[in-house]
Amino acid sequence: MSKNKSSESVKVVVRCRPLNRKEESNGPSGGIVQMDLRLGQVILRNPRASHSEPKKTFTFDGVYDANSKQRDLYDESVRPLIDSVLAGFNGTIFAYGQTGTGKTYTMQGMWLDPEKRGVIPNAFDHIFTHISRSQSDKQYLVRASYLEIYREEVRDLLDPNHGNARGLELRESPETGVYVPDLTSCVCKSIKEIEEVMNVGNQARAVGATDMNEHSSRSHALFLITVECGQPGPDGRKHIRVGRLNLVDLAGSERQAKTGVQGERLKEAAKINLSLSALGNVISALADGRSGHVPYRDSKLTRLLQDSLGGNAKTVMVATLGPSPQHYDETLTTLRYANRAKNIQNQPRVNEDPKDALLREFQLEIARLRAQLNHRKWRSQQKKEQVDDDGDEDPECEEEEEVEKEAEDYVKQEEQRLEREKEAIRGDRSLLAEEKQRLLGEKERMMGDLRKEQEATEQLTAKYKAMESKLLVGGKNIIDHTNEQQKMLEVKRHEIAEQTRREREMQQQMLVQDDETLELRETFTSLQQEVEAKTKKLKKLYAKLQCIKAEIQDVNDEHVRSRQELEQTQNELTRELKFKYMIIENFIPPEEKNKIMSRMTFDTEEDQWKFQPLVPTESKPLQMKKRPASAVGYKRPISQYARVAITMGANTRFRAENIMFLELDMNPPNTNSLGRLKDAEQDQSSSVDNSPTNDTSVHKSPSWCQSQKSITSSSSNVSLTACTTAVPAAAQ
Ligand code: ADP
Ligand code: MG
Repeated sequence: MSKNKSSESVKVVVRCRPLNRKEESNGPSGGIVQMDLRLGQVILRNPRASHSEPKKTFTFDGVYDANSKQRDLYDESVRPLIDSVLAGFNGTIFAYGQTGTGKTYTMQGMWLDPEKRGVIPNAFDHIFTHISRSQSDKQYLVRASYLEIYREEVRDLLDPNHGNARGLELRESPETGVYVPDLTSCVCKSIKEIEEVMNVGNQARAVGATDMNEHSSRSHALFLITVECGQPGPDGRKHIRVGRLNLVDLAGSERQAKTGVQGERLKEAAKINLSLSALGNVISALADGRSGHVPYRDSKLTRLLQDSLGGNAKTVMVATLGPSPQHYDETLTTLRYANRAKNIQNQPRVNEDPKDALLREFQLEIARLRAQLNHRKWRSQQKKEQVDDDGDEDPECEEEEEVEKEAEDYVKQEEQRLEREKEAIRGDRSLLAEEKQRLLGEKERMMGDLRKEQEATEQLTAKYKAMESKLLVGGKNIIDHTNEQQKMLEVKRHEIAEQTRREREMQQQMLVQDDETLELRETFTSLQQEVEAKTKKLKKLYAKLQCIKAEIQDVNDEHVRSRQELEQTQNELTRELKFKYMIIENFIPPEEKNKIMSRMTFDTEEDQWKFQPLVPTESKPLQMKKRPASAVGYKRPISQYARVAITMGANTRFRAENIMFLELDMNPPNTNSLGRLKDAEQDQSSSVDNSPTNDTSVHKSPSWCQSQKSITSSSSNVSLTACTTAVPAAAQ
């Protein structure tokens, strides 16, 4: 299934939003972020440092300043990725940055304003426009799912019950990578339908936002689109390519110390920070390239993005920044993350003919329904020919509509014929009334059958059409605006974006090469000139050294800060743990605690402790212990002690084989039953020597009467003793 297997790095672009009103009113200091669009560089000024201190410069695959347009970002950085998804690659776009820096704005934007629509709505447009313009031998199936990760739980946003439902599990398969097995997936036939899916999911998030105190910005949201494309290959067989697109809007990466949250919110922030720091660790491990272990399993987010980071996917990361001097530290951290992410290498490949392609299932189902319909059509044709005796038409070459029309005509004709026959029967005087009734009934039944048949065919046709309509066929106009001019305009825009990107890449390369070749190009005419040039170079290198020193200091500071934060979280957790220990030690008996502990196992897949079932669930049912071979002849196994006791004759209790139950009938006896009982007792007294008491105040149950025989016949003295002691006691 692999094709085009090559390595490519994660594309990282940076976007800075404009100063908002509050930040503008804070003072005239302006922003701390400068951007060189031509070179793709971000220059960051430290507001606390002196002016002489050099600014930090980072280079990326693209930078977008406060004046950038949503469309530019899409055309330059996202469009090529969506094209790859349509060609069968996996793709991921994720927005990363501090809260309020424009992640949601970049991913979603403002839906109603065409200029401000974000990556997601533009991707919808792109996908369906592409399908409508593709060749007619291509069949597409588009599916969408929407999930969020809230407090390390994966929730299905399209499940109406999502707020109450338990978190979904993650599974991994060699074919599709990590996936969510029970996730709702909606087949979408148009932009409108996929937008509807997005709205439903967003509303589920919005409900959370009001109920759970701004929860929307506290969860990571993933919108997943699967595009399956079937096309006949050169070998004449239909091949299916499956592209999966993940559109990810992460929760904010703010520091908990800065937000000053406590209690539940602190835990919530800790969970967000946990997944984001896990993401950071994964990025670091991958960018480093030396560490063999990549900690994907540390959080749900990193597991879901496993393929997108270092796996089978093309990935674009949009790092968002705020220009405010207040958030210098966060901006710097974001830029560092983004800078590291550039080094991640992915191995994207086309997913061709995967086993789980839904398109294949749909095609098979459609073929099956079609065969059923054809069979019905053929049957009705046969009947028609019998009626008309006119068989010169070939049913195979007819179009579907014609067939349907013909079937309808046939049913109408049949109905008319049956009606005529019924009239004829009614009018026929030679028939007896009974005979008439029978014939009319028969015709009535035939008409009923005919209608049922027609209904079944209609249902089948409807099902067939519904299935078929889910598949989109290239070349058909799905949306209206596919006129040539617009097409040309888009192609031009695409070309310009591509050219800008290439230009930037070349500029960046030139800059690197300039530094390297400076020395080679220099020829000095005098010693003085050489000294000057070398001094200049020394200065340059010294500045570079200072930059790197400052960078090392920064990284150290950052490390100390994050260690302090971790310690703070650890302290919180230790306190909580001590509290729980206290409860356990004081309120749970040690033996119960041990029992519970011996049954617990840790499920690494779900990252949770679980109870082992009390009864082993292995397929082999629990077998009864076998009787010891030495006990042949005994009705049930008996102990060594009992056997000795029997041989000694010391205690007859051990000879007992059967236990007799004596039930007392508590209904007060009446004279009738007493009479019968007396008779029965008289009968029995002849054969039973040890007859029970004649006290009639208690009615002995029939089981008691029957058991008398077993007493005499068996040698069981113990039953007898039990009986004689039990009955009088009960009879009092
Ligand atoms: P986040 O999702 O990162 O928390 P939002 O996307 O909600 O942040 O953005 C916060 C605010 O900033 C919103 O009001 C949004 O309209 C505005 N904003 C963000 N980026 C831009 C931008 N590039 N241009 C204009 N406004 C922006
Ligand atoms: Mg947001």
